[in-house]
Amino acid sequence: MLAHKAEEEGTFIAETIVGQKPHIHYRLIPGVVYTWPEVAAVGYTEEEVKQEGIPYKVGSFPFKALGRARASMDVDGLVKVLAHKETDEILGVHMIGARAADMIAEAVVAMEFRASAEDVSRMSHAHPTYTEAFKEACLDATDKRAINM
Ligand SMILES: Cc1cc2nc3c(=O)[nH]c(=O)nc-3n(C[C@H](O)[C@H](O)[C@H](O)COP(=O)(O)OP(=O)(O)OC[C@H]3O[C@@H](n4cnc5c(N)ncnc54)[C@H](O)[C@@H]3O)c2cc1C
Repeated sequence: MLAHKAEEEGTFIAETIVGQKPHIHYRLIPGVVYTWPEVAAVGYTEEEVKQEGIPYKVGSFPFKALGRARASMDVDGLVKVLAHKETDEILGVHMIGARAADMIAEAVVAMEFRASAEDVSRMSHAHPTYTEAFKEACLDATDKRAINM
């Protein structure tokens, strides 16, 4: 939450000055750690949803079950999705593994549009790609319906 947060804040100020209606959703600014493997997250953590008493469910998918990760021999990693237990709205997405820094953008888009885990799990993701791990984790969060597990 560094340069890209500052960029949003700069835009917010400029748009305020010229009388527009700017938008910043701080909870949906992704946090990224540029290590190897990469780490990326957006939204609530599991600790936060517990603390706030939000009913939630968890879905996850390991890279070792992902075709693209196996082909690239980057099998260390997983995607974890937290969704509201009743509405299925995605509350948080956490990733560790190859390309996590890029993949988190899809989670941000989904969450800005208040997508449910099932919404994402019904969208086509090209095969073989790392992004399939997000779809599979959403399938797992929806009703333990991951296809390739
Ligand atoms: C080497 C380096 C690499 C980085 N790499 C990354 C990266 O890869 N990814 C990433 O997300 N982030 C990265 N960051 C962090 C990122 O650059 C900062 O978090 C971001 O620039 C902060 O923006 P800001 O607008 O909040 O503050 P700043 O960019 O620090 O801007 C503050 C401005 O206020 C001015 N100022 C201070 N005091 C006063 C005063 N009293 N009166 C008038 N002006 C004042 C300063 O001169 C400065 O221009 C990096 C930072 C560094 C130093």
